[in-house]
Amino acid sequence: MKQIMIATGNAHKVAEFKQMLEPLGYEVKSMLDLTEAIEIEENGTSFSENALIKARALHKQLSIAVVSDDSGLAVNAMNGAPGIYSARFMGEDTSYEVKNHAIIEAVNRHEDRGAQFVCAIAYIEADGKEHVFTGIVEGEIAKECIGEGGFGYDPIFYYPPYHTTLADVSEDMKNKVSHRGRALAQLTAYMEEQK
Ligand code: IMP
Repeated sequence: MKQIMIATGNAHKVAEFKQMLEPLGYEVKSMLDLTEAIEIEENGTSFSENALIKARALHKQLSIAVVSDDSGLAVNAMNGAPGIYSARFMGEDTSYEVKNHAIIEAVNRHEDRGAQFVCAIAYIEADGKEHVFTGIVEGEIAKECIGEGGFGYDPIFYYPPYHTTLADVSEDMKNKVSHRGRALAQLTAYMEEQK
């Protein structure tokens, strides 16, 4: 069976990738299966660069197919911030309640409430061929936090077609339109083609 390494130690992401890739005949491994941790510095200047940095480092060590992703929230009124710094925005240990309120306040001073979630997925095949698939979802920064689902910035990400935030819909509904869902759909379409 072909092996594929997912460049994350986040159990939620591993489960999501397993669900998509196992039906395509892959044995899915993740950094949770490694006996020795591999430290990778994400020092790129874009989502796709960061995803590729992680995937290249793992592919070099393991010589098997690797998938890695990088994602975040880009707010128009904040010139695209927090962007690639989404996890580190205001400090890694600051709660999302605090981060989300800070973003609402910053956006309240502007006309433009537009924002995007962006996800870049890098895929390096066992033979070293590289691909990047990017998914984007357009929305607006809500005037208050709404919903108990999702994680991170979901409670302030108002998605107009749903008339509510991505924290206020089921996981299935979020995955259908989300940046990660859209990037994953491109990855799996490519893999299906190659089968
Ligand atoms: P990473 O791609 O795991 O490094 O995630 C980057 C950060 O972007 C996360 O820690 C969240 O702050 C934010 N983020 C990425 N995707 C989502 C999402 O689907 N909902 C809410 N926040 C997200």
